[in-house]
Amino acid sequence: MDQNIPEKLITMIINSSKERKKRLIEEFEQRFGLTVEAIRDKKHPSHITCPRCRIQNDGDSKDRHIVAYGYADPNKTRRRFHCKNCELRFNDHTDTLFHCKKLRHYLLPFLERMLNGISIRKTATDLGVSPTTIHSWRKTVLHYIEKNIHLVRRELHSSDIIESSTREFKPSRKGLPAGRTIPKTTQVLQFHCNRLNHWEVLLTSANTLKPRKEMIKGESHVLVNRVPAPQRLTAPADRLLHHTRNVRQLDEGFAATYRRMRGVAQPNLFKYALWHCLLMQLNRLNTKEKIHELLFLCL
Ligand SMILES: [Zn+2]
Repeated sequence: MDQNIPEKLITMIINSSKERKKRLIEEFEQRFGLTVEAIRDKKHPSHITCPRCRIQNDGDSKDRHIVAYGYADPNKTRRRFHCKNCELRFNDHTDTLFHCKKLRHYLLPFLERMLNGISIRKTATDLGVSPTTIHSWRKTVLHYIEKNIHLVRRELHSSDIIESSTREFKPSRKGLPAGRTIPKTTQVLQFHCNRLNHWEVLLTSANTLKPRKEMIKGESHVLVNRVPAPQRLTAPADRLLHHTRNVRQLDEGFAATYRRMRGVAQPNLFKYALWHCLLMQLNRLNTKEKIHELLFLCL
């Protein structure tokens, strides 16, 4: 199949009238969407698990905690389940990005837009949905990524060559409701990565709020076997080995995104940093693979 079909379809969606947009979005979903079975297999790889009490059926036991309970949709594709332990009724979409989404088939083109760093307002126009909807979807995606990031992230080992960067931020209130309080302290964001592109993000709060001009705006260093590289490297081979190119790319890329978005609300700073690292990790995939990888993280 032509690798560029998703991009071509998206371009057509963007440039179409409202009615045609709808049809093309449905086509996008049919071509690249996940079936209910694929969602179920990915979400419950061994047993159906109750999303509330986490109970599962034992392999041999005759008393089943979770029983099939009909269907959640008129086409009879989405199964419904009943947990006899906590009485919860749930279906294949419960506790996933697809949960209670009337505009479910818009989610895929939405994810494509998000992966390409398109703003909320522009995405809303591109797909013909309200900015409020796009805003809430984005929030949900970031929530699932934070929850499931362990599924794609690989550990850093202290024996690796580890590059680290530090950047400080003033906590932002952008877009938060008036009553919501945020810490009035400098936010310290650190990226760590090794040479295999495994990464880690850390967000800590300092004790005080520094004046803006004293804040660290991207500082990087490298550790080899937990030992910092000497400040002055004389041998050319050492200089080649002890670079911080990868982490600076992460740090500077994030700083640029942060500026472009004119800051993000303090409670979302960590989520956006995770999102930024994930984007770097997905970079080598094609559009369809990226969307699927992201969907799997939202289950
Ligand atoms: Zn339960």
